[in-house]
Order: sequence, then structure tokens, then C-alpha cells
Amino acid sequence: MESNKIRRAFLDFFESKGHVIVPSAPMVVKGDPTLMFTNAGMNQFKDIFLGNAPRKYPRAADTQKCLRVSGKHNDLEEVGHDTYHHTMFEMLGNWSYGDYFKKEAIEWAWELLHGVYKLPADRMYATVFEGSEEDGVPFDQEAYDYWKQFLPEDHIIRGNKHDNFWEMGETGPCGPCSEIHFDLRDEAEIASKPGRGMVNAGHPQVIEIWNLVFMQFNRKANGSLEELPARNVDTGMGFERLCMILQGKKSNYDTDVFQPTIQRISQLSGKTYGADAKCDVAMRVIADHLRAIAFSIADGQLPSNVKAGYVIRRILRRAVRYGYTYLGFTEPTICKLVAGLVEQMGGQFPELKAQQALIEKVIEEEEASFLRTLATGISLLDGVVEKTKKEGRELISGKDAFELYDTFGFPIDLTELIAREQGVGVDLAAFETELQAQKERSRNAAAVDTDDWVELFPIRESVFTGYDTLTERVKIARYRRVTSKGKTSYQLVFDRTPFYGNSGGQIGDIGYIENANERIAVVATEKENGLIIHIVKELPENPAAEFTAVVDAAKRQAAANNHTATHLMHEALRKVLGSHVEQKGSMVTPEILRFDFSHFQKMTPAELRQVEMLVNRAVRANYPLEENREATKEEAEKCGAMMLFGEKYGDKVRMVRFGTSVELCGGTHTSATGNIGFFKILTESAISAGVRRIEAVTGEQAEKIIYAAEDTMRDISEYLHNPQVLQAVRKCSRATRRFRRRSRPCAASRSPSGPRRSSPRRPSATGCSSSPRRPTVRPSSSKTWPITCVPAPRSWCSCRGRSTTANPC
Ligand code: ATP
Ligand code: MG
Repeated sequence: MESNKIRRAFLDFFESKGHVIVPSAPMVVKGDPTLMFTNAGMNQFKDIFLGNAPRKYPRAADTQKCLRVSGKHNDLEEVGHDTYHHTMFEMLGNWSYGDYFKKEAIEWAWELLHGVYKLPADRMYATVFEGSEEDGVPFDQEAYDYWKQFLPEDHIIRGNKHDNFWEMGETGPCGPCSEIHFDLRDEAEIASKPGRGMVNAGHPQVIEIWNLVFMQFNRKANGSLEELPARNVDTGMGFERLCMILQGKKSNYDTDVFQPTIQRISQLSGKTYGADAKCDVAMRVIADHLRAIAFSIADGQLPSNVKAGYVIRRILRRAVRYGYTYLGFTEPTICKLVAGLVEQMGGQFPELKAQQALIEKVIEEEEASFLRTLATGISLLDGVVEKTKKEGRELISGKDAFELYDTFGFPIDLTELIAREQGVGVDLAAFETELQAQKERSRNAAAVDTDDWVELFPIRESVFTGYDTLTERVKIARYRRVTSKGKTSYQLVFDRTPFYGNSGGQIGDIGYIENANERIAVVATEKENGLIIHIVKELPENPAAEFTAVVDAAKRQAAANNHTATHLMHEALRKVLGSHVEQKGSMVTPEILRFDFSHFQKMTPAELRQVEMLVNRAVRANYPLEENREATKEEAEKCGAMMLFGEKYGDKVRMVRFGTSVELCGGTHTSATGNIGFFKILTESAISAGVRRIEAVTGEQAEKIIYAAEDTMRDISEYLHNPQVLQAVRKCSRATRRFRRRSRPCAASRSPSGPRRSSPRRPSATGCSSSPRRPTVRPSSSKTWPITCVPAPRSWCSCRGRSTTANPC
């Protein structure tokens, strides 16, 4: 069965059982500070499971792009070395939100695996939770009894808390789970060692394929469990593992999911897959990581030096390093595999197809840059090896190895490999100590202590009223204390709020809440898992009282102007540069707007000017805000609304229109474009291959920029005694050139050690010979040559090539 058909069969099966088939959420998580990447199918429903949002349907199913490379689930080091863990994989899942529970979850899992996919019962094992005295949770008899209908009792195994009790995090929803394992070994092997003893024992051919989680508890901050009001089902099945079983293979990499890429790698390297264990690992690493990187870029996460971007950069570098060391890839090669991947997966994941050119470009640039780093690292390492030998040591010190790793991004296993080739080892224990110390430092820096919510009354969801009003009578529904870096703050959730929570690139509102007794400043507003959270430095004396919440109107208006200007600029960029322009990032504050977009070359001054003019034309047209808060996706598509890759859209979307600019957007906007006043671009730069960044300002800020530019021009003109600035500057530069030509023989007085710098002339409008000042270069030290201008006698400029020590021209 082809992999595409296997996926389709799963979705069709659950659709036939009344499930709504939902699209995969983006792999990069937004609005959840505890998670960088989606690592399980349930992540996109976390707000529902936490009770922060109402359920949209009682049952759902999907295939979710997951990435397990950081945090609680990190399989990175396994990948390539084993045959069934990936960085990025698809998790097939079905969910019940307070609807069906263990009975249907188990019966349908069985029906699908045995009835539809025809997997034999004698190869299947199910685990059920043995119970925990510590938590007061009994043995899961219910799940055991349902499995007994289908499997012999010696195929039902009791599992411990580690394997059979699933938790979302330190706190939050959790519950017992039941895993399904499959034994892929040959008959002879099974006869000599029955599968029962092999389950959860790390054998690559007796593996878990599906986990059925029965969410029935909530873990509180003090570690205790409480029953959830609505019990949920959350299941996850590894798609690639299922393909391996159904295609009769022993490794995920032998399925049609990975083979086309592996064959291409084999072609490019001239090495055969299966001929050499180390090369095989390298091919698997590259085939796996290619997917992780390509999907991350498609979802808007570009490699960078911080946070999620850094994780992606490290995955890519791991792939480059394996290719470099074992397959002889000394030139960018992974970028050449993108086309094949797009051909294979672009049907199910159109975001991949749409952004193929960007993905290729970004990967190529990253590869080239890391290959340069490797070359530098190798020469540095040579020096370290030499030093180690000179000092009579057999091991490179942990400190040196760590410096290579931390400062130069040189991987430790490569250090080890190259060192070994040169007859020395690496003090791995000391390296590990350095690494742990660094991890500890960053853990401490990031440590946040969060108390349980104190719930004053339940709310079904955080209601945002701030599109229509900036003040609101509110009550605090829940609050909690958060301590970070020794500072305490409080998070408040209201029954309804006019405060916009930081999301979609727009910074959250600030303001205050007050009543007759007190006024408390709201210093920030965040949005987390669907909740709008107001940050305050102190808790109100009486949290149960009623308050008036007031948003800082000036800041909100400035942010709204900038947000609307961002939409207008997005449209203008597409008009000027072409429809390949896609938003890749956005930040909107009251002071400035920043917009990242895909485009492959630097914008010319003329293009920038054109964009400014188009935006300012739209500003003058004073287009009113037209919004539809309840548009369906189809309606939005019909209106040509711009939708962004990497964004999670619900069934109902908010459509925002100003003239011909139509976008789906949850942000706050100005009532008419005229309020923006004036739009001015400050900078245009590259942030990575194929992605440009524009920073711009509007209104008063833009006005200030124009005044500052005007002031500078006036200063220059006064300085040059000439209102025709350009004419004067041209004259000066001609005179400077003439002067330099004449001064060339004056080499004797050049600094003996410093580099020769051309003197910045500060000539008068009429040219060098009448200059009242002369440039003097004062060598303050041999390293730096600060260049300053000091007054000089009028006669200086007519030196006509005569040289003095005071004139090192
Ligand atoms: P394992 O013990 O094999 O790492 P897990 O306990 O981490 O699995 P779950 O978190 O329960 O797995 O995830 C649900 C399913 O997702 C698993 O049954 C498995 O089929 C699949 N899966 C988990 N991790 C990976 C991975 N890194 N690569 C591919 N599939 C995976
Ligand atoms: Mg795992």
C-alpha cells in the first residue's frame, strides 16, 4: 500500500466514524511559551483541553506534522542511527472532546489496524496502565477488558507510569494511556524470543506504533491530580512506522516515504545505500533532516541564531556535517534534494510546493556558510591538536573542545574524529562538564516559577472586546503568581477584556484597571493557549471586586496605524516586486513596524520609493476599515484575502479590508487609512537568504524622520556656504580628487604601521584651495586611526604636494 493511500485510509476511516478532518497545524508553535514546535497531534487543541476555549466539534482527526528536537521530546540524537525515530514525522490522530472514551478509542483502533489495514493479531501487543499508588490511580481494568475482546491476554501488558501515563507538561491535563506495539521480526526470531518480553525494550523491530491517551486528570502545581470535568481521548500513530509495517519493511527509511530521497543522495554521493554502515547513517540523517528543515521553512521558521531558528539551524548543520564527513559533500547538496521532496509531498502539503524556491535558496545559503565554518574549524582544530601534542597530552582538553563547539559551532563528534585521525583523543568527560555548566546557566536564566491558577469563577473563553472599545467593566476570573529572575508578577484573566494580547506580530496593549479603591497598571498583555493574560506587578487588594479596564489609547492608536500600514505595504510590495512576496515575519509596536518577506535581491532605491508612494497614496485615499469577523475561509478566498503559511486559521476568520488590500488578521486596525498620516521606510536589509526586512514608521515618527533629514541638509548647506548642496558637494569631490592626485608623492609621512586611509576632506563650497579647515589624520596608536578635522590655516590647501609631518595626506 502506497504511503499516500495509507494516510488517506486513516482519515477516511475516522471520517466514517463521525470525525471532522482538520488540517495539520503549523509545525512552529505560536502563543504557547512552553513549546517551540508541535511535538504531538494534540498541541493544536491544547486550548480546548485546558478549558480555555470551547470545543468546535466533539470528534476530530488529522495528520499532524510534528518535530521532536527540543524540550521534553527530543529524538534528535537517535535519528539516523536507528531506523524508526525521526525529527519530523507525521502523527495520525483522532480526538474526542468530552465525547467517546476508552471503549470506542480501543475498538476503532483495532478495527482500523486489523480490519482495514489487515495487520495480524499475533504480531500485536497492547499495554495498559498498571496504576500508581503515589498518585492514587488504580490499574486500568477498563482498557484491559476492552483489549481482551481482541487480543489474547498474553498480548496485553501492564505498563508503568513512565510508559503508560501521559502528561502534557509539569502541570495540566494527563491520564493513563494504552500503546499498541507491533513485532516485525522474522518467524524464527520470534520463536526463539517471544514478543511479549520485547515490548518497550528498545528493539528496533518491536516498536510502538500508536498511543491512545485517555485524558481524565489535571496535574496541579503541587503535584496532585484532580478529575477533569470532561474526559477526552487523544491518540497518535506514527505514520512512517505504519508505512514500514504495511509495506513489509524493517526500517522506515526503506519505505516509499524516504527511498526516493535516499536514492538521490546515493546518486549525488556515488555511494550505495546498504554498502557501508556509516554512510547509511549519514544518508538517513540527511533524508530525515531535509524534511524537518523544508517544512520548518515552509511554516515560516527560518534558520537563525535564536530560539526556534537556532534549533532549525542546528538540524541543518547536523545534516551538512554527516554529508561532509561520510559522503564527501563539500559543496551545498541538500538544497538539491528539495525538488524531489516537493514532488513527493507537495500534494498533501501545498505550503511546500508554494515555497520551493525559497526553501532551496535558504538551505543552499546555510549549507555554504556552514561548510565555510567547518573549514575554519578544521584549521583551528589543527592548532589545538598541535598545542596538545606539544604539551605532551594525549587528550584535547574539554575547554578547547567546548570552545570549538560553542564559539565556532564545531560539532564534538567531528572534533573527535579529526583528532583521532591525528593521533589524539578528546577529554569527553570534561567537555560534558562544560556543556552541562552552560546548560545550567541558560536554564537558570530562563527559569520561571508559575503557581496554579486561582479560579474565582469559570469562563468558557477569553472574550476580546477591544475591536470596539478601549474601556470595559471587568471581573478577574482567575489569577496566578509568576516568578522569574527573582521578580514577581501576576497574571490576570478577565471575563472579557478590551486589551489586545500580544499575537500575530502585534505587541499587546498596556493600560490600567481601576475601581474606587485602587488603580493597577497593566504593563503587558500576552496571549497564551487562547487566554488573554494581563501582566500586573501587584495583585489588587480584592481580586473579586469589579474594575474598569482602560487601554492606553494613544499607544493603541499608534500600533493600529502601524498595523494597517503593514497591510498596505504588504500589498504595495507585491505590486512592485511581484506575487512571490510572502510575509515571513512581522512586528508591530506603537513606535515602529518591521516586516520580513520573501524576495531574492536587495530592493533598489527606486523600488523602495515606489512602495512608499503606493502606501502614501492609499493613506491619502483614506480608505475606511471594512471588516468581517465571521467570514468563512471560502468567502475569504473568494475575496482574494492574503493568507499566510505557518498561520493556524479557524473555521471562522476575520477579514480586514482597506481599499484593495484584503488580509486575514486578528490585529487591531485604524478606522481609516488617513489616520496613518504619512509612511516612511527607514531601512531595507537581508535577514537571511531570500528574506528581506523593511523597518518603517508612520505618523509623528515619520514626520520626525523627515525633519531630521531636512535639518541635516540645512546644516550641510550652511557648512558649505552654498544652498545648492549637490552642486557644492560635486565641486568638492572633484577638487578632492585633484588634490589627492597632486599629493601622491607625500608617501613619506604615511603611518608606518596603520593602513592608509583617505582623509575626509571638509572643503568649502568653492573648492579645496579656499578651505578654511584642513583634515588631519592623527595616528593615536598603531592600531586605530581616528580621523578628525581640525581648523587649518587657509594656506594649507595650496601645499601643492609639499609634505610636512603635520600633513600626512
Ligand atoms: P517511542 O518510545 O518509540 O519514542 P513515544 O512514546 O515517544 O515513542 P508518543 O509520544 O506516544 O511516542 O507518540 C505517538 C506515536 O508517534 C508513537 O506511537 C510513534 O508511532 C510515533 N512517534 C513518536 N516519536 C516518533 C519519532 N521520533 N519519529 C517517528 N515516529 C514517532
Ligand atoms: Mg519517544
